[in-house]
Amino acid sequence: MARKRVIAVMGATGAQGGGLVRAILADRSSEWTPRAVTRHPDSDKGQALRAAGAEVVAGDMDDPQSLERAFAGAEAAYCVTNYWEHSDPDREIRQARAQANAVKATNLGYAIWSTLEDTRDSVPLTDPRMPTLLGRFKVPHFDTKGESDAFFVDSGVPVTLYRTSFYWENLIYFGMGPRRGQDGALAFMLPIGQSKLPGIGAEDIGKCAYGLLKQHEEFGGRTVGVAGEHLTGAEMAEGLGRTLGESVRYVPIPAAAYRELGFPGADDLGNMFQYNDEFSAEFCAMRSVELSRSLNPALQSFDNWLAANGARIQIQ
Ligand code: NAP
Repeated sequence: MARKRVIAVMGATGAQGGGLVRAILADRSSEWTPRAVTRHPDSDKGQALRAAGAEVVAGDMDDPQSLERAFAGAEAAYCVTNYWEHSDPDREIRQARAQANAVKATNLGYAIWSTLEDTRDSVPLTDPRMPTLLGRFKVPHFDTKGESDAFFVDSGVPVTLYRTSFYWENLIYFGMGPRRGQDGALAFMLPIGQSKLPGIGAEDIGKCAYGLLKQHEEFGGRTVGVAGEHLTGAEMAEGLGRTLGESVRYVPIPAAAYRELGFPGADDLGNMFQYNDEFSAEFCAMRSVELSRSLNPALQSFDNWLAANGARIQIQ
């Protein structure tokens, strides 16, 4: 059997990288094999990846040399940061730069950088419509990724700037699901007015990334966005209602009120949703469902995702 080509996958124990590892391993005839990079190769998740057939190696985004060791001998890399682990924009940018430097230093033939828009290109810091956060950001966890695109472009390696979408899993894990109000009725709150929000089942991000990898000669050097469906808050509430067997009312709260909710990251997410709302047309256009489905024919619609995951949504 011919030796398989290696892709080093950052975030392999998480949603995005894990989805990519599983997509490659599920394709037995793939010419690629995943090398999972984690800080803890002997953790339960590391061992599960090894048992599933992945190579598992140590690597830490806060330790640039460890990434060069982890990428050495690979042909490609999937690069992703996890802003929410530390909520420190400068650290996320350093982690992105370390990955881009390792892509360059190990002379890879292709990389995918999981990124998002730099919202300051649309809403300059001087624009008063939303507050400036942490001194120089509008939506910190977006802007850091968009700002980091340059490290990857400057690496000289063919890179796909891969723009992901709102995970529908946020309805399960991020406390964004429907809540029962004092009137006893279910309400689904999102500050996106009547605009459409591109969303996706997190596992599909990795599956679409595998589609990019298989066609990397076409997608290297390009910016590609993915989504499972573009839906308004009312459409999401309808789907939730069908799944829960009870009517769910959509409540388009103002972004300013959302920013004041007081949970960690509420201001960042309030600005994000305001940006999603005000720039919905461009944001959706960047994330073609048709292209996403061509990369991943099993792409889930919101209803498909609800059928598989709806039972895990806890009413708050
Ligand atoms: P996740 O499931 O929370 O897993 C985080 C992954 O990052 C783990 O595999 C972890 O690996 C790895 N990691 C964290 N710090 C590391 C370090 N210092 N060195 C090496 N690996 C490290 O993450 P995810 O959801 O796939 O991706 C998170 C990113 O998605 C965030 O930056 C977020 O902004 C972005 N995003 C989220 C949404 C959403 O709707 N939630 C939408 C679009 C984009 P180990 O612990 O095994 O080392």
